[in-house]
Amino acid sequence: MKVLVTDGIAPEAVKMLEEAGHEVVLDEASPEGLLEMIGDYEALIVRSRTKVRTDSIDRASNLKVIGRAGIGTDNIDSAYAGEKGIKVVNAPMGSTLSVAELAFGHMLSLARGIHRGTAGARSGQWLKKQLKGMELDGKTAGIVGCGRIGQALARRCQAFGMTTIGFDPYLPKEVAQEFGIELMEMDELLKRSDFISLHVALTDSTRHMLSTEQFEIMKDTAYLVNCARGGVVDENALYNALSEGKIGGAALDVFETEPPGEVKLAELDNVTFTPHIGANTTDAQRKAGTMVAEQVLIALGGEDPVHWVNRPKQ
Ligand code: NAD
Repeated sequence: MKVLVTDGIAPEAVKMLEEAGHEVVLDEASPEGLLEMIGDYEALIVRSRTKVRTDSIDRASNLKVIGRAGIGTDNIDSAYAGEKGIKVVNAPMGSTLSVAELAFGHMLSLARGIHRGTAGARSGQWLKKQLKGMELDGKTAGIVGCGRIGQALARRCQAFGMTTIGFDPYLPKEVAQEFGIELMEMDELLKRSDFISLHVALTDSTRHMLSTEQFEIMKDTAYLVNCARGGVVDENALYNALSEGKIGGAALDVFETEPPGEVKLAELDNVTFTPHIGANTTDAQRKAGTMVAEQVLIALGGEDPVHWVNRPKQ
């Protein structure tokens, strides 16, 4: 069968598809190009660039499966594809460790001011006296959203001698216990944590879940890490909390608008940034590619994939 890959995919994934006897075409199709080509293919694999909307799905007369090499499928009209009998599959675990490691890296950087030392060196300043840091050992990490990434982060924090506490109203207690996370209410977590790391999706219930009221509750030495989604943190409230010394510092991988352009937060030296690179590692991309290829192969074989996003409700 023919597989169209429009946003690039790891070579290992292409090899898997070819070894299974399929023809793989790599083409960075434009929206118009996709409309023209899609009718010839049985499978389509995308990342986030390609939008698969109703117009393409209407032309996809042979398509059996759409694979997303990653987690989020908001660029695919999955319900509509489902109505047309097209399975949508993804690779939700591909980036888990990369995001957890980035969040942990931000924690270390905040604790020691690595970002400030670098900025100082670039401008000829030797900030030795100003950069009095702290050890992670013996501190408390509060994890908000204890799913795949939150659990992986907990393991890393524990390896560094930290106590791990969590807020996740949907996580069974036994799973939290298995990962050494003590579950509690959000306010309690805010009060007790030296570091707070966010690992929830952006939904109506998580939008601005960290805002003025929550910053008031946090320790004035606490550090906040957001490698989840912009919008979970109220950036204006964060600016005020950081500039008024209500919290110790923050690290952001994600922003309410991306790219954020000139960020007011960048005026402050107790905040550090990365440009939404949580999943941006060769390892995560190889894993996401091979995981989605596996799911696509299952779907092309007429079986039910494990990571079937638009599976009909029983
Ligand atoms: P997951 O689904 O395994 O875990 C999310 C957890 O959040 C679940 O355990 C769920 O019960 C919990 N949750 C839901 N609503 C909540 C609420 N209101 N309060 C507290 N907990 C709540 O997802 P994951 O794979 O761990 O990914 C987490 C998030 O990380 C994703 O949704 C995505 O937004 C983000 N992410 C970011 C990057 C990046 O590049 N920075 C990459 C991948 C994922």
